[in-house]
Amino acid sequence: MEVYDVIIIGSGPAGLAAAIYAARSELKTLLFTGNSLGGQAALTDEIENYPGFPEGIAGAELTKRMQEQARRFGAEIQMDEVTAVNLKEHPFTVTAYGGDYKCKALIIATGVSPRKLDVPGEEKFIGRGVSFCATCDGFFYKDREVAVIGGGDSAVTEAIYLTRFAKKVYLIHRRDRLRAAPVLQTRAKQNERIEFVWNSVVTEVVGKEAVEGLRLKNVRTGEESFLRVDGIFVYIGQVPNTRLFEGQLELDERGYIVTDRAMHTSVPGVFAAGDVQERVLAQVVTAAATGAIAAVEAEKFIAYLEGREYPGKEWPKAPPG
Ligand code: NAP
Repeated sequence: MEVYDVIIIGSGPAGLAAAIYAARSELKTLLFTGNSLGGQAALTDEIENYPGFPEGIAGAELTKRMQEQARRFGAEIQMDEVTAVNLKEHPFTVTAYGGDYKCKALIIATGVSPRKLDVPGEEKFIGRGVSFCATCDGFFYKDREVAVIGGGDSAVTEAIYLTRFAKKVYLIHRRDRLRAAPVLQTRAKQNERIEFVWNSVVTEVVGKEAVEGLRLKNVRTGEESFLRVDGIFVYIGQVPNTRLFEGQLELDERGYIVTDRAMHTSVPGVFAAGDVQERVLAQVVTAAATGAIAAVEAEKFIAYLEGREYPGKEWPKAPPG
């Protein structure tokens, strides 16, 4: 079986930046996209803080351009999902629906998935009024009323976005103060279509065929109420996509991959980049930066394996197996 120099799992900005750097270093590079291209960033309507785009850029467009750039340098990009990995033997094995693949170095950029509310009705109405993606589904709520749950950057950004369509957006937050950046808070508070519902949690998503409303509980007073809405967008944080690596890599108490400053995981030759390991700042710019670091470290690792000089190389750890 052909052995790739680098396999990258994930096609968000971290994975794509890693592919650009690895392929440009003439490493034989294969990237698995997962079930959609671009990760969470591609679902963001407008990214206005990625350097170089003073007018902002759609997340889907930015990640599409990153993909073109990676391809230009020779990276192979496969629309396939990885179902298993074996990190106990080197070369590492990566299993996707299309078969098994081997690599000398692995870069994990599997990102995060939206956290669910875990209340009755949520699961039942996914796709029928419960959504985790305003960019994907906001359009269906033209002149209707929706609720956004959460108080972080995502909830506030997406609530503002939804006011393009919905006539009313309730922003339901469990505290009386937002976690979101001040610039977003100001914009939301100035937006007449947004109404804040403070100190409240959703206890049930209610409906027959589709969402008709939410049962809410005020966490301060204990008072229960019903809010009539046509749709609900859940933005209460994320959970890392690390199930594949449980028992093979060191994860922290929340399930994120533990890395050092150079993106090395607990297994030599395996690197992680982007939100799946992020502890300080989950942004496109940091995802891309950590992807680049991971690719350069992978290149050093391969040079070490092959007994080649690498400028400034110091490699104390041996690969497994
Ligand atoms: P987040 O910052 O973790 O915020 C999650 C929000 O959901 C918090 O307000 C939290 O409440 C609330 N929450 C958590 N669990 C809950 C539950 N079970 N029920 C009700 N509410 C719950 O997540 P995020 O907003 O998705 O942001 C994730 C990262 O991406 C952040 O680093 C953020 O800066 C970044 N991001 C940045 C931008 C941007 O720069 N424009 C846009 C999107 C995301 P508490 O506040 O009470 O904890």
